[in-house]
Amino acid sequence: MRFQTFVLASVFTIITSAACADPQTAAALRDKALTDPTAWNILESLTTEIGPRPAGSPAAMRARDWGLALLKKLGFKNVHAEEFPKPSWERGEEEASIVSPYPQKLAIIGLGDSVPTPAEGIDADVIVFKSYADMLAQPPGAFTGKIVLVDQPMVRTQNGAGYGAAVPARISGASEAARRGAIAYLVRSISTGTDRAPHTGDMTYKEGVPKIPAGALSVPDADLVMHMAERGPVRVHIKLLSTFHLDTKAWNVSGEIPGSSAPDEVIVIGGHLDSWDPGTGAIDDGAGVSITTAAAHLIGEGKHPRRTIRVVMWGSEETEGASAAYIAAHLAEVPHIVLAAESDFGCDNAYAIQLPAGVMDHDAIKPLAGVLAPLKVLISRDPALHGGTDTDGLRSQGVPQFSINQDGSRYFDIHHSADDTLAVVDPVQMNQVVATWAATLEILADSDVDFRPAKQ
Ligand SMILES: [Zn+2]
Repeated sequence: MRFQTFVLASVFTIITSAACADPQTAAALRDKALTDPTAWNILESLTTEIGPRPAGSPAAMRARDWGLALLKKLGFKNVHAEEFPKPSWERGEEEASIVSPYPQKLAIIGLGDSVPTPAEGIDADVIVFKSYADMLAQPPGAFTGKIVLVDQPMVRTQNGAGYGAAVPARISGASEAARRGAIAYLVRSISTGTDRAPHTGDMTYKEGVPKIPAGALSVPDADLVMHMAERGPVRVHIKLLSTFHLDTKAWNVSGEIPGSSAPDEVIVIGGHLDSWDPGTGAIDDGAGVSITTAAAHLIGEGKHPRRTIRVVMWGSEETEGASAAYIAAHLAEVPHIVLAAESDFGCDNAYAIQLPAGVMDHDAIKPLAGVLAPLKVLISRDPALHGGTDTDGLRSQGVPQFSINQDGSRYFDIHHSADDTLAVVDPVQMNQVVATWAATLEILADSDVDFRPAKQ
């Protein structure tokens, strides 16, 4: 009986080792990532050699070529770019000032997709609201001939919940103000900071409502206008020029670390290559591109895990388009895409990961908790529902998602502003995130766990 038991144990060991990643390999990747310069070098290169790269801009095309060259240089396979049409918006001359009663300059930035003001700008009295809800409570005609400013502060949170609460004022505020008669719309920057750099971002117009120009004031300037308005009528001047291009294109750039024994099972990860224009797109989202590329590259340097890891640099996140283009191009491949996630929350420390429901208790995945513990990263009991804006198309087709949650406490001090540069990046924290991605990917990609929910 002893002999038989021994044979059974050996067979069992072989089966499990074929299906389970070796936690020691993941731990070694984790430790190597902490001192690996790859992520920093990628981010330094992207911000220095390309800089701001809105979708549809000449810089976005240079970023595509930069991404292709980078992935080839790092040894990725199947490196290519997938083109899609992307009408684009280009910022022009912008200025703002208080005309009366106390003339002062204001720091302003136009919102993406805003219509322009007339070339000479707009001068009008401003009505200030301390919350978006207060503005929405006003009746039709309440703002006829006026400029509206919503000066609602954003709440600082670790997980970014403050953004979700504040951002409707930026996205939908112009149409809501226009519905009530306004001729232009201003929003306090969706920011947790107090710096004088205004923060841009996308906005959309509602059907059937006049399109009015929309811009963001810096946090201190929005407060300045509010304080002046408490004393009496305030007249402001704004000029927000911009151009629409209907015939521009964008690209999703990708490369792969081929799987060793199940190469047709693909895990899709990445960041978005496009950025807003005032900074150099370091934390949004050069960081995500750098972190995921570096993590996959580290894994590729060793024995490849069972499954293929595909890094995608999505080409139009900020003004949408990349996710829809990606799913349109990969619909037939969906049954082979086993998992997807995007890194798009800067480069401060990771503190938790979220996996598809039930996965964390699988024998092949259980060792991950111990591998991540020294990084001070936990596996959340809450399943991942959302892997990122650019994996939403995949999610809508049933591709399971995972997420690596980073500390966003200071992210929105910088996001979409001129301060989004390499200077705000802490390389030690960025490498902690690379280590989290590398260890997690190694375990997930080397397992044979089916992440799709079991069919009822
Ligand atoms: Zn982003």
